[in-house]
Amino acid sequence: MTNNNMIFVANWKMHGNFNDISKVKTVLNLIKNKKYKKIKIIYCPPFTLLKSFSNYFNNTKLNIGAQNCYYKSDYGPYTGNVNAKLIKSAGAKYIILGHSENRNEGETDLLINQKIKSVLKEKLSIIFCIGETIDEKKKKITFQVLKRQISKGLKGIKNTNKIIIAYEPVWSIGSGIIPSRNELEKNIKNIKKILKQFKFKNSVKILYGGSVNSKNANEISKIDGIGGLLVGGASLNSKKFVDIIKKTSN
Ligand code: PEP
Repeated sequence: MTNNNMIFVANWKMHGNFNDISKVKTVLNLIKNKKYKKIKIIYCPPFTLLKSFSNYFNNTKLNIGAQNCYYKSDYGPYTGNVNAKLIKSAGAKYIILGHSENRNEGETDLLINQKIKSVLKEKLSIIFCIGETIDEKKKKITFQVLKRQISKGLKGIKNTNKIIIAYEPVWSIGSGIIPSRNELEKNIKNIKKILKQFKFKNSVKILYGGSVNSKNANEISKIDGIGGLLVGGASLNSKKFVDIIKKTSN
């Protein structure tokens, strides 16, 4: 059943400049409607726009997140890197970690785990991405992959209050293809089962990400256990993003 507490994450990836911030006005207008009182929207622009977004969002209900961070929690001689402390000082409250585009560049479960711990140290929240590749899906090892990513990524983490899971099948990201209803239901159920197995809280929110658009958003959001959507490409266009939000709230 569609719920009113949905979380919508806008992952701008490596797009956007200062002038694009004003596009968000369309979203701000939408959420003035009481109907959307309970939803949460988290914009994740590139690092370079975090501070500008946080100034623009001041006194609004929009939230800001970063798309990744360095694993060291202290300041230091780490040229070119941005850690959770710096991100927090720019006004962000969330950080996406474990995105497949970064796993694909060599991020391991261990590194993601270190990053998660460094973010929790700063008391920020994490949008923790997990999901199988097309090869893993074909080999029918999705369950094992999700189990590995969750158990290693969240190793040593007792309190999951600040963790949101984003289930993103890698083959669905940017491809226009989404899992069938059955497949998605099964994988969400399995994620819950794995969380339970490792004694993580049942209340951890699970988002879906991968080729979400205004045509499929309603159906996806009705799937039991889905607490929100992580939107990449479509979130760059505020009209499309607004349409997605509207479609999930009727
Ligand atoms: C993403 O960036 O995580 C994503 C889901 O992208 P898209 O919506 O473009 O598939």
